[in-house]
Amino acid sequence: MRPIQMVDLKQQYLKIKNEVDTAIHGVLDSTAFINGKPVGEFANNLAAYLGSKHVITCANGTDALQISMMALGLEPGDEVITPSFTYVATTEVVALLRLKPVFVEVDKKTFCIGPEAIEKAITPKTKAIVPVHLYGHAAPMEEIMKIAKKHNLFVIEDNAQAIGSDYTFSDGTMKKTGTIGTIGTTSFFPSKNLGCYGDGGAIFTDDDALANKLKMIANHGQQKRYYHEMVGCNSRLDTIQAAVLNIKLKNLDEYIDARRKAADYYDKAFVDHPKITVPYRAKYGTHVFHQYTLILENVDRDKLNEFLATKNIPSMIYYPVPAHRQEMFAKFGGSSYNLPATDWLTERVISLPMHTELEEEQLNYISSSVLEFINH
Ligand SMILES: *Cc1c(COP(=O)(O)O)cnc(C)c1O
Repeated sequence: MRPIQMVDLKQQYLKIKNEVDTAIHGVLDSTAFINGKPVGEFANNLAAYLGSKHVITCANGTDALQISMMALGLEPGDEVITPSFTYVATTEVVALLRLKPVFVEVDKKTFCIGPEAIEKAITPKTKAIVPVHLYGHAAPMEEIMKIAKKHNLFVIEDNAQAIGSDYTFSDGTMKKTGTIGTIGTTSFFPSKNLGCYGDGGAIFTDDDALANKLKMIANHGQQKRYYHEMVGCNSRLDTIQAAVLNIKLKNLDEYIDARRKAADYYDKAFVDHPKITVPYRAKYGTHVFHQYTLILENVDRDKLNEFLATKNIPSMIYYPVPAHRQEMFAKFGGSSYNLPATDWLTERVISLPMHTELEEEQLNYISSSVLEFINH
C-alpha cells in the first residue's frame, strides 16, 4: 500500500506531469513570468467554468478577501458578519482593514453560517456578510441572499474550500458557489481542490464596475500605468501558477468526483455508528469534499489521532481554536461571545485523509483503523 497522506500532491502531479512540465517550460522560454499569456487565459477559462462574468486573479485567497472588502468601500468600524468556525484568513482581513468582525454561530450539520444567526447579529452598522463554504459544503445561500437584500448588505462568499460546488435554488436554477453573492473569492493554495504549485487566488463578480475596481486595487490602484487613482495593493497570480492552473482546471470535475468517491466509501464505513456523524450533504448543494470531517461523540479524539499516527494515518483538527477564542481577537471582544455550537464542534471534529488519489485499499485501512479504535 502507498503511504497515506492528508493530501497526496505527488501522485496527482505524476498523472499530469508531461503536460505540466511542458507548460512550465513554455513559461520559462517566454520569460513572461508576470502577467504572461496563461494568466489572462486562466482568468477566462475559470470565468467560463464558473459562469461568472469576471474573474480577477491575485496572489492568494487571503488577498482575494482583502481586495474584495477594499473594493466594496467599507469604512473603519463597519461591521462584517463572519463565522467564528473558519480558517483565520476570513476574519483576519476584516480586522486588518479596521472593520469590525462580528462572529456568528454555525449550523452543526452544515458547519456553515445560517440565516437565523445572521439576522440576530445585524445592527445598523452591518455592511457585509462573509459566508464560508466550509470543507466544501455550501452555506444556505438562497436564504442568506434574501437577508442581504432585505438589509441592503454585501455578500462575499469565501469559496476557498468549495470551488466547483453546484448550488440549486428552490426554483431549480443552478449556480456555482462563489458566483451567488456580490463577490466570491478563492485560494489556489496547493492543497485546495483547485491548487497550484505555489500561492494563488481569485475573485469573481458579475458587476462590471466592481470588477474594474477589484482589478485596480490588486494593481496599486492604477488603470493606466503610473497613474494611481486609489490606494490599492500589489497582488498577482504569477504566470507559472496560471499555466499549472489551466491544466488542473480541466481536471477539476474529475478531481471532485474522486473526492466524492472517497467520501462515499468513508460514509459507508461509518454511517449509523452511534459515536460518529458523517458529513451532512444538503439537497441544495453538491459537496466537493475539500475535507472529510467527522463529528465524534464520546470518543477521546486526541487518543484517536495518536492511535492513527502509530498506524501511519494522518488526521487533522480543522480548526482547533475558533476565531472568537483567538488571542488576535481579544480586543474585538472575542471572549464575550457565546457560541456553543461552534465550541461544541471545535471539540468534536476530526478530518481524515482526503484527496484525489485515495485508493480503496487505503480507504479500507483508514476506516477500519478508525473503527478499531472507537469500537474498543
Ligand atoms: C485557504 C483559505 C483561505 C486563504 O487562502 P490563502 O491562499 O492561504 O491565503 C481563506 N479562507 C478559507 C476558508 C480557506 O480555506
